Amino acid sequence: MITEKLDAVVIGAGPVGLACALEIQRQGFSVTVVDKGALVNSIVGYPTNMEFFSTPELLEIGGYPFPMASYKPHREDALDYYQRVAASEKLSLRLYERVTGLRGQAGDFVVETTKGEIATRTVVVATGFFDVPNPMGIPGEDLPHVNHYYKEPYAHAGQDVVVVGAKNSSAKAALSLVRSGARVTLVVRGAEVSESVKYWIRPDLINRIKEGRITAYFNTTITAITPHTVEIVTPEGPRSVPADYVYALTGYRPDYSLLVDMLALPLDENDPARPILFDPATHETARPGVYAAGTVCGGLATSRWFIENGRHHAQLIAAALANAPVNA
Ligand SMILES: Cc1cc2nc3c(=O)[nH]c(=O)nc-3n(C[C@H](O)[C@H](O)[C@H](O)COP(=O)(O)OP(=O)(O)OC[C@H]3O[C@@H](n4cnc5c(N)ncnc54)[C@H](O)[C@@H]3O)c2cc1C
Repeated sequence: MITEKLDAVVIGAGPVGLACALEIQRQGFSVTVVDKGALVNSIVGYPTNMEFFSTPELLEIGGYPFPMASYKPHREDALDYYQRVAASEKLSLRLYERVTGLRGQAGDFVVETTKGEIATRTVVVATGFFDVPNPMGIPGEDLPHVNHYYKEPYAHAGQDVVVVGAKNSSAKAALSLVRSGARVTLVVRGAEVSESVKYWIRPDLINRIKEGRITAYFNTTITAITPHTVEIVTPEGPRSVPADYVYALTGYRPDYSLLVDMLALPLDENDPARPILFDPATHETARPGVYAAGTVCGGLATSRWFIENGRHHAQLIAAALANAPVNA
């Protein structure tokens, strides 16, 4: 069944999608937010009790204060905050409904979802980057004890756990695993713990490696994962590392099958990160009437836009809708 035509559909109920919806609604437009998962689904998937690197005022949307007794919010604070904002603004939410296609043109779109079709004049794509892990391209990658999403350490006390990667997520996972009784091996392609690891985490990890509490292999590649080992090639030659569980924290990428095949959005092929082609003044993509917001705007450069800077796309898009003939 097709709905009455809306002014805008926002795809993605992340922090930036919610910011877009509330700014669009404040312009007097009708809008709904569609998400394939929960409200702020990406943050739901972050590690339990994860501490944001941003201070709370930099995560605020819609002018709602994010009061905190402590310096940095945790995952649970952010979940609570964004839920309260969505409720306060009485945003229309269609959760656990995946967008699968988009027909029509500006002023007359039909958003196709797993639960039906939504008629709308404009579309905002705020689908982030957290759904498609970067593949390692090795045998055994799909085994059930290999996970691209780290949640918490408690299931791994007494286990041999291999963590792949040495950026923030891997560093934090390795530290929390070792502190909860896992035997941790870190496998790193580069020569050292990434310089991009936050300044308060990096020395902690380096010192645990020096102490011998975490075994680390640098300049090392993984060639295969078996049910009980990870096969690696180190500068000293091949090794077989015992592994009851593997966290392959190799980063994520936007869902290009959604962006290109289902939404037909042209990409900026001159940019090696292959972002969606969009006008930086309005965030309208090369498909007229479709706007892009948040992390998805950076393509493979997933740290180009985050909550702190991506939330401001909402005002640009709402202003663009107010100035555009969306009532066509
Ligand atoms: C561990 C971690 C810590 C971070 N800490 C910080 C920090 O301190 N400060 C900061 O600014 N940033 C931080 N970031 C980055 C930040 O979380 C992301 O940049 C932010 O989530 C981007 O928001 P978004 O709304 O653009 O996308 P997302 O939050 O990823 O939301 C995208 C939404 O789109 C939905 N979606 C995707 N495909 C479909 C589909 N086909 N149909 C319907 N819905 C779909 C997803 O389910 C998801 O809910 C962190 C990221 C990670 C991984």
